[in-house]
Parts: sequence; structure tokens; C-alpha cells
Amino acid sequence: MTIHFLPNERRINWLTRLAGGHNLFLPFKVNSSVHWVRFDKGNFDINALALKEIRAAEPIKPFLFSPRERVALFPEPLEEPAAETPALLFGVKGCDLRGLAVHKIMFQEGEFADPFYSKRLKETILIGADCPEPKDSCFCNLVGLKPYVVEGVDLVVSVIDEGWLVEVLSEKGAKLIAGEDWRPASENQIDKRNAQRQEAEAVLQRRNPKPLNPNLPQAIAEKTNDDKFWAEAAQDCVECFGCLMTCPTCFCFLLYDQAKGDKVERTRVWDACYMAMYARVGGGANPRAKFLKRFINRFHCKFMHGKNLHGFYFCSGCGRCFTACMGKIDIRNIIGRL
Ligand code: SF4
Ligand code: SF4
Ligand code: SF4
Repeated sequence: MTIHFLPNERRINWLTRLAGGHNLFLPFKVNSSVHWVRFDKGNFDINALALKEIRAAEPIKPFLFSPRERVALFPEPLEEPAAETPALLFGVKGCDLRGLAVHKIMFQEGEFADPFYSKRLKETILIGADCPEPKDSCFCNLVGLKPYVVEGVDLVVSVIDEGWLVEVLSEKGAKLIAGEDWRPASENQIDKRNAQRQEAEAVLQRRNPKPLNPNLPQAIAEKTNDDKFWAEAAQDCVECFGCLMTCPTCFCFLLYDQAKGDKVERTRVWDACYMAMYARVGGGANPRAKFLKRFINRFHCKFMHGKNLHGFYFCSGCGRCFTACMGKIDIRNIIGRL
């Protein structure tokens, strides 16, 4: 695929043009962390743009799977929401895309595919970005991912000293660069990008040298009833649910109905398997009334069912769960012992 070069002084022009037809969101350094922020030319500081940093504090999940959303009406069917200006997420990381892969299975396949999710995804443009500087919290290498993006987006941006290298991965991506005076990247620039990528992989390898147990799903299944192991793993957990709310791959939701005049409205909100009511059934029974059973569920879901049923871990190695954790529980230490 073609790789183009954009010198530093022309970055703002390109971003301004992209913002013309899209709701453009970029990762920005806000205080000491990175957050998704909507592009606002009048208030834009290119030095706060955090393309070289690791993933933002929040996943891209809420752009596509809203924390609260009206999904049905009765008696009339809910109409498709009117088309809005398409969103453009600029600076998506390899680990963000693992979340998307999980959600595509959950929301686009099978009998209960969600047309709203599909519509939103179709209307969203994704521009990936390399992670030349992985941090201690990153372990994407352990779950089969790379600190750079090679597919699943429209363009990929790699930051080098003199500007951005932009690789086109789709026709949609080619249109996004049309109209600019792009130069092809030189061999030397591409070599620099490749060296940065190799170095990022080496950093991850040094930080997370021990591969996961190749039979991890089996190992988790065998440990399921080992309460001592799980009690130790969960001993610092205060049930704050931060790990689940920040996780890019979590997809659980709850539906509730409310009367609105002579109509009934159905709303979908995020749910999380650590919540006490999560597995409660109509008659009041709860197969996971004890927290330990709920704690284990997360490991079953991400490292057993995902792999057994779909061939990959439902974990991206992004490290958000333990960055957010009140109990400082590092999931790597738990799966690393299995
Ligand atoms: S986990 Fe990997 S892909 Fe995600 S931010 Fe860190 S280095 Fe980048
Ligand atoms: S379990 Fe933790 S490391 Fe894995 S995807 Fe979720 S937040 Fe990221
Ligand atoms: S973030 Fe930590 S303390 Fe909070 S529920 Fe998750 S594991 Fe427990």
C-alpha cells in the first residue's frame, strides 16, 4: 500500500480539512494523561496532540457502543437515527482494534445483530497510529497484537521527527488524503518508521518477556473451583468496577423498559459482570451471588470463552483495567500464574 509523507508544518492544514466534513476526535494530553478530544481549530495546540503516546485513558468503545441508548419503542418501531456528521477517530491504536473485533462479533453477528451499531461503525472513519513508546501498562504482545496498526483502519499515521508518514489502507482512506499536496515517503523515512516499530516491539518484549500459557483456556477451566487461588487474586478488590467500565472489549449490557405516555421505550445501558445483580434471574435466584464467582467470570469471558469460541483473547493488553484499579490488581500477574 502507498505511504505518503506530510511535513510538520502542513499537519494543521490537513486536520482542518478533515474536520470540515467530520466530527474529528484526536488523542490529547490533558494534564498527565491522554484523552479523546474533539478538534477545535480555534483552541488547538499541536504540541498537546498525543499521537506518539499509548492509547487514550478511555477506549473508543463509547463512540460506537453508547453507555446509554434508546434501542426500541412500542407500539411504533424506533426509526433509524438521522445520519449525523460522520465521526473520524484519528490515532486509534492496535489494542483499540481488538475491542472493535470483539464488538463486531457481539453486535454484528447472529440472530440479534444490532443495526444501530452497524450503522454507526459504517459511518465512522478510523485512522490508526503507531505506538513508538509503549509504557509499563502495555502488554499487547502477550495477546497476539503489535504496537502498530497494519489493518482494520482507513489510514495509519507514524510520527517521525520531520512529519507524519501516512499509509493508505482503504479507498475511504485514499479519499481522505486527496486534495493535499502529498509526497511519497522516501525509503529512508520508511526505514525510520520500521526501525521505530521494531524498537517498540523490543520494548514490549523486554517488559513482558514471559508468554502466556499456550493452554490458558484449559488452565483457567481447571482452576475454576480453586477458591484459594481466586481469593488471593481478588484479595485487594474493592468492587469499584473500574476495570470493566474502562475495558475496550467488555460488551455486556442491560435492557430496561419505561412507560412514556402511551408508549413504552426500551433503553440499553452498559452492565458489568462484577455487579451483584448481573446474573440474577427473574425468580430472584443468582448463580453468581458470591463476588468470587463474579471475579472469575471476567477470566472465563476474556481468556477462555473468547479464545475457545473465536480463536483470540477478548483482551487487548491495553492495561486500562489495572491503571484504573483501586486495588492495583494487575491482570498480567493473575493470568501469568495460570
Ligand atoms: S498496549 Fe500495545 S497497542 Fe496498546 S497502547 Fe500499548 S503499545 Fe500501543
Ligand atoms: S482486560 Fe484489561 S488489559 Fe485486557 S482489554 Fe480489558 S482493560 Fe485492557
Ligand atoms: S478495578 Fe480493581 S478493585 Fe475495582 S472491581 Fe476491578 S479488580 Fe476490583
